[in-house]
Amino acid sequence: MKLITCEDVSFAYENNTVIRDLNFAVNSGDYLCVIGENGSGKSTLIKGLLKLKAPCKGNIIMDISLKSTEIGYLPQQADIQKDFPASVYEVVLSGCLNQCGIRPFYKNRERAIANENINRMGLKNIKNHCFRDLSGGQQQRVLLARALCATKKLLLLDEPVAGLDPVAAKDLYQLINDLNKDEKITIIMVSHDIHSAVEFASHILYIKEEHLFYGTTKEYLNSDIGDDFLRRMDYV
Ligand code: ADP
Repeated sequence: MKLITCEDVSFAYENNTVIRDLNFAVNSGDYLCVIGENGSGKSTLIKGLLKLKAPCKGNIIMDISLKSTEIGYLPQQADIQKDFPASVYEVVLSGCLNQCGIRPFYKNRERAIANENINRMGLKNIKNHCFRDLSGGQQQRVLLARALCATKKLLLLDEPVAGLDPVAAKDLYQLINDLNKDEKITIIMVSHDIHSAVEFASHILYIKEEHLFYGTTKEYLNSDIGDDFLRRMDYV
C-alpha cells in the first residue's frame, strides 16, 4: 500500500529552487534513506512531508489512512531545547500532544501510551531523570519514544545519530531497524551515514539538484550515482 506519493515535487525558498521534479512513492513497511550532501534539500523534503513547507510545484499525496497526527517525527538534535528542565517521562508524554487536541490535559490513555513507549525503548530505569542530564544516545532514545507516541505507522527521522559516538549510533540504528522489521513501522530517515543507509534501508533517495535517484538499495549500489557517492565516502 502506498503511504506517500511525491509527484513532480519541487521546493524553493523565494527564487532559489532546492529540489526539482522529485518523483517517488513510499510503501507501507519501506525503510527509505534520504542521502545527499549538506544543503541538498533533505531537511526541506522532511518539512514538506510534515506539511510544514508547501512544494512550489507538484503534489505530495498521503494515503487516506494516514492522518497527519499519526506521523512520528524525530527532529535534528540541534532543534531540541536541551536546557528545558523536563523529565524523561514528561518529554515522552509530550509526544501525545497531537492526540489531546486542544485539551491542555493528558488523560490516562495518553499516560499509558507514554509508559508503554518508555518501556519499549528500555527507559524505565531513567523515567524520572532530567532529560538534559542524559547522554546524547539516551536523549535520542527518549526522543524516539516520544515520536512513537504519535504513530504506529510512519517515523520521519532527521539525522538521528548526528553527534552520537559510534556505539550509541549503532545501538540507535538497531532500534530503528527493529521497529521497521519487527513492528512494520515505515521509516523515512535523512542520513549522512551512507554505510548504515546501505546496511539497513530498503530504498534510497539520493538528492543532488540535477541528479535525483530513487530506487531499491540494490539498484542504488549498482547505479553510477551509488558507485560515485560511495567512492567519495571511501566506502569502496
Ligand atoms: P540539507 O538538509 O540537505 O542540508 P536543507 O533542506 O536544510 O538541506 O537546505 C537546502 C537549501 O535550502 C540550502 O541551500 C539552504 O541554505 C536553503 N534553506 C533552507 N532553509 C531555508 C530557509 N528557511 N530560508 C532560505 N533558504 C533556506
